[in-house]
Amino acid sequence: MAKRSAHYEYDPEKRRLAKIYSRQKLIMSIGNSIVIPLTAIAVLFLTGVFERLAEYSLNAGGSILGIILFVFFVSAIFLIFEFPLKLYGGYFYEHKYKLSNHTLPAWFNDFFKETLLELVFAVPIGAITAFLLVNFRYWWLYTSIVGIFFSLFINFIYPVVFLPFLYKLKPYKDRSELKNIIDILKRVGVTNIKKIKVLIESEKSKKVDAMFAGMGKTKSIILYDNLLDKFTKKEVRTVIAHELGHYVHKDIIKFEIFGAAQSVLLLYLTNLIIRNNFTADEFIPLHIYPVVSGILIVLGFLAMPLMMAYSRKQEAAADKFALDYIKDSSSQISTEKKLCDIDLADDKPNAFIEFWFHGHPCAEKRIKMAEQWAAENNG
Ligand SMILES: [Zn+2]
Repeated sequence: MAKRSAHYEYDPEKRRLAKIYSRQKLIMSIGNSIVIPLTAIAVLFLTGVFERLAEYSLNAGGSILGIILFVFFVSAIFLIFEFPLKLYGGYFYEHKYKLSNHTLPAWFNDFFKETLLELVFAVPIGAITAFLLVNFRYWWLYTSIVGIFFSLFINFIYPVVFLPFLYKLKPYKDRSELKNIIDILKRVGVTNIKKIKVLIESEKSKKVDAMFAGMGKTKSIILYDNLLDKFTKKEVRTVIAHELGHYVHKDIIKFEIFGAAQSVLLLYLTNLIIRNNFTADEFIPLHIYPVVSGILIVLGFLAMPLMMAYSRKQEAAADKFALDYIKDSSSQISTEKKLCDIDLADDKPNAFIEFWFHGHPCAEKRIKMAEQWAAENNG
């Protein structure tokens, strides 16, 4: 086996491509998560399509089934509008930059699975929201409460339902390295994570990631096979330690609490906007439900910098945790550079873009932090 170089250096050509790729990907994601749904909502609302669709659904299904039917139609409309850019951005564009290993049929297979999950989970929560909206004055408060439980539920089942449905998962096989990993876990004081799984991403793409997923009994460390293939063992250890940092700092639950507080506020504001601009009725009519989604998209976008700043803070703390426990700044720096080149991430994005959209500090800052740590701890 060829020995992998211990210290990876940036590939200048990849740095050049990363600038273009990351900017265009950002534009596509804003298009598909904000511009296209908002345009669709505005057009269908103003032309009265939503009103007629709500009337039709309620006539066909009655007050409960009718709501479910309407939410299903609205979800399906969104899926149709988002499809072209999803196909272009997720398949053709990824192939253009040689980041995808998907064949077109395999991409469609994944697309159908994701769509199914979205319908199975998003339609019920949407229907509950719509039901509360049309029946209760304080719908925004009840919706926040339901949302919190729903989000915890999704977090809990994510590694045991979503991941196995979308990916092949294998147990981590390397016995001697497993001992090292368990050793790291023990050193950090973590004794209740027993599951380390390898997620087979290589059939889909070249992308690299690792995550700490699940809650309670479903807690597990997930490592992408691409990570194990392309990174040295030392580098992988720094990644695991970073994930453990999230675990020890209880970042999943803190982020949930932060998100819950934000969603109460955004739903409250949405209610005010709806009451002041869209209806004078005590109970909001069903066809306003897509408008509620639209307002939430706008408010969510405006609130993004706050959420991202909080996430970047957690990420920097997890990096610091890995440095303190593994004490291997050169592997951590090398990992960062390699990750950037493989994923074509911009190591030094525009400051405003980072402020608004990035959940991780940019690579330049993460590397600087590791260098600083090394300067303080050497000698
Ligand atoms: Zn992280």
